[in-house]
Amino acid sequence: MPGPVKTEAVVLRSLRFGEADRILHLYTPGRGKIGAIAKGVRRARSRFGGRLEPFFRLELMLHEGRSELLTVTGAQTIEGFARLREHAAALDTAARACDAVSRLFDTSEPHPDVHNLLCNELSLLDADPGRAGHANQLAFRLKLLLAAGLAPQLASCASCGERDHLSGFSGAAGGVVCPACEAGSFPLDEAAHEFLASALGRPLAETPGASDRALRQAERAIADTVEHHAGVRLREAIAR
Ligand SMILES: [Zn+2]
Repeated sequence: MPGPVKTEAVVLRSLRFGEADRILHLYTPGRGKIGAIAKGVRRARSRFGGRLEPFFRLELMLHEGRSELLTVTGAQTIEGFARLREHAAALDTAARACDAVSRLFDTSEPHPDVHNLLCNELSLLDADPGRAGHANQLAFRLKLLLAAGLAPQLASCASCGERDHLSGFSGAAGGVVCPACEAGSFPLDEAAHEFLASALGRPLAETPGASDRALRQAERAIADTVEHHAGVRLREAIAR
């Protein structure tokens, strides 16, 4: 229905468009991912200032017309995350988090929990930019999988239910597997298995550390799960 729309949103991407406009990819609590155009935003005296940039958490007024893109008519900053922006690693982690949300929840279906999770991730990176990195990014993605109903099965073999000797991971089966069910799986060390279980079970702020080897295996487990069950490829979780 055409008319004004008021919503909170996080800016996932902000693309230059035409001479002075920007196209925004936004994640909202009530409308999922939406696209919007902000007109004249790149002019020096724009009333929007610099706040229509990635990672800003905003209170937006939008106009919904016939176009797929809504038009931004007003924007107030809820949080700008200034500290995060001063740290290259935190910026990179925030960008990958926004990209993962964008790919995995590329829908107007509302997922308020995903919006909250993204705000929580940006707040954590802002409060302590040293938290940025591989373990944090993987824990964030695991929580996205949980919100998508795709959390990997980690307590028993995803194929037969066996509880011991869980030494592989199968994206197709959707979790850890035992030697009898290992077809199509890759070897998963105990440390990677432990990281997946505790990162999934604990709050984001309490993400455990792990060796590079364990984190690489955990990343593959997440990527394989997402590819098999959502048909989505995620960007690598850290710059290599
Ligand atoms: Zn099995």
